Amino acid sequence: MQLVKTIQEVRAQVAAWRREGLTVGLVPTMGYLHEGHQSLIRRSAAENDRTVVSVFVNPIQFGPNEDLEAYPRDIERDKQAVSEAGGDLIFNPDPSEMYPQHFTSFIDTTETTELLCGAVRPVHFRGVCTVVGKLFNIVLPDRAYFGQKDAQQLATIRRFVRDLDFPVQIVACPIVREADGLAKSSRNTYLSATERQAALVLSRSLRLGREAIEQGERSAARVIDIIRTELQREPLARIDYVEVVDFVNIQRVERIEGETLVAIAVYIGKTRLIDNFVWN
Ligand code: AMP
Repeated sequence: MQLVKTIQEVRAQVAAWRREGLTVGLVPTMGYLHEGHQSLIRRSAAENDRTVVSVFVNPIQFGPNEDLEAYPRDIERDKQAVSEAGGDLIFNPDPSEMYPQHFTSFIDTTETTELLCGAVRPVHFRGVCTVVGKLFNIVLPDRAYFGQKDAQQLATIRRFVRDLDFPVQIVACPIVREADGLAKSSRNTYLSATERQAALVLSRSLRLGREAIEQGERSAARVIDIIRTELQREPLARIDYVEVVDFVNIQRVERIEGETLVAIAVYIGKTRLIDNFVWN
């Protein structure tokens, strides 16, 4: 397992692998890796001859009042996690490597980014799509792996890959959770012990929503109500959004029929957490 910091080094290594006829998987991350990230790396390692993991806290996907500075970073720990999960190369660029002076070109998407996180984090998806597009052009992977934890991100990446003809297969991976149900996230490290306990309300409220659908409820408004009611019972929780949308276009639905995404964002104290499930 090696770590490189420049685009040129990644390109040279991938070109060498290509000359040997090897396939390449890419797992884009912001680092501070946990078992959620490792599940993506393991899947890529199983499906490709070589796996590149990018570790880059992408400044352009953070809004001015978000947690760019505070975002946890520990590259030594990440090296361990990547090597344990079967990754071959870490790409860990400095921001200036990815964004030279006068960087002025972006991948911008509409429709899938109108609601949910797109509505409350206006520059977020432009930053995500731009960095992911750059990583696709740098690594030229056969497949790229994304977690359903960030379901709107997944739908948006699928969209721009289709719209802009990126020659890469997008592979979606299920949400990895702690034993008590909390979705694993690098941001969980912000939570105090009391907040960590309070954060269980996210997965608990979603479970109630899912159970209602399983029992035949098809009204999105009713499912939203069930989830909101449970979230409101937790004094440390402040709802950012609770939405029921179709999983392809990320537009609101009234009835739960096709592949449906039920997604929530909730502040626990100052920490904003997201969680979701997809009903099919
Ligand atoms: P991040 O480092 O948060 O940008 O996440 C990098 C990738 O890991 C994204 O595709 C995420 O969706 C995925 N990921 C993060 N947390 C989880 C999780 N708990 N389960 C599955 N995938 C995850």
